[in-house]
Amino acid sequence: MLSEPIGQDYSSASTEGPNEIRSDEETSALQLWRWSPPSHLTRRSSKADEMKYGSVEYQYAAPIARGLVEDADFRRWVLSKFNFSSSSDARILHREMQVHRRNPTAEWWRFYFTEACRCLGCSGKETDILAIFEDERSRRFAIHFEIKQPKDKFKADGVQARGYPLRAECWVGKPPPRVLPHQEASTGIFFSEAKRAEYEPHLDNFRTKITFEEIEQEFPQLAAWRQQS
Ligand SMILES: [Zn+2]
Repeated sequence: MLSEPIGQDYSSASTEGPNEIRSDEETSALQLWRWSPPSHLTRRSSKADEMKYGSVEYQYAAPIARGLVEDADFRRWVLSKFNFSSSSDARILHREMQVHRRNPTAEWWRFYFTEACRCLGCSGKETDILAIFEDERSRRFAIHFEIKQPKDKFKADGVQARGYPLRAECWVGKPPPRVLPHQEASTGIFFSEAKRAEYEPHLDNFRTKITFEEIEQEFPQLAAWRQQS
């Protein structure tokens, strides 16, 4: 018997969504995430849900976060693109991060933000994947990763991208209570090669730029997002 293919919701969500829905709602969206809103609050159109709650972004972020833990070659490959000295074999501290944040239902990498600090890096902004590592000299460093899924865009004001290096620096000095303390930090972005020209004004806020296409080529086993499109 015939049935509708699943996953249509994602492929039919076009780039030209209701853009204005994002602009002033990012902060409240972040708050809602933390509160796990009841479904009657989140059930708007599926496209609005997707834009606010990031399910497409999750399809990219989750395999990358998992790869950082489970695939040593991928982890080394990512770390080799940063400027930390002799750190490619650093240990990832996902277990320590999980314990430190004291929230057993939250994934170790996700939903890191603070509104307690009002600096330009922290206020109203979130790190998509926070990963903290420890090298053989017991030095701990954090990488703040932005995940820009191919249907997403940067707002023209540039605030989101500029916040990344500011936040990375801010948290070295005074990490939010649920963030594992660390001595150094850097920033990275995962994005689609097809968007390079569009994202160009924002990209240099990130120390390291890695495309989904590179991952698809080098680590096809990790590129689970391809099954969704
Ligand atoms: Zn701050």
